[in-house]
Amino acid sequence: MNAGNAELRRPTPVLTADNAFYWEGAGRGKLVIQGCGACGELCHPPVPLCPACHSPDRIAKEMSGRGRVESFIVVHHPPNPWFELPVAVATVELAEGPRVMSNVCDVPMEEMEIGMEVEVFFVPTEEEGIGVPLFRPAGSA
Ligand code: ZN
Repeated sequence: MNAGNAELRRPTPVLTADNAFYWEGAGRGKLVIQGCGACGELCHPPVPLCPACHSPDRIAKEMSGRGRVESFIVVHHPPNPWFELPVAVATVELAEGPRVMSNVCDVPMEEMEIGMEVEVFFVPTEEEGIGVPLFRPAGSA
């Protein structure tokens, strides 16, 4: 089991004009990624201008929540009140293309592997309405 201690509320991330939609979307149980209103390019982490066409027209695009582990590390130290260690920190390549960094939970660390199919779930933060997207093996819910 383990990773990320999903029962605990996570600390609230630092919200900015660029990234607030991402954390607020997670608070509503939606994985949303910045999309370009002009050319459609998806981009993560969020930035002020589209990296493809430099348009400032940004839209929040809801993702399927499915992806695969592209790379990961297992954190054993230092102890942290929000995480039950060890915890997997992974780069997840979403089915739609963008990569997000998160934890992979509900899997023994020795079973973590590159290419593992995962799906998103959400945990609340200390601030109401803000959430954190986490991942677990696909079909394990
Ligand atoms: Zn664009």
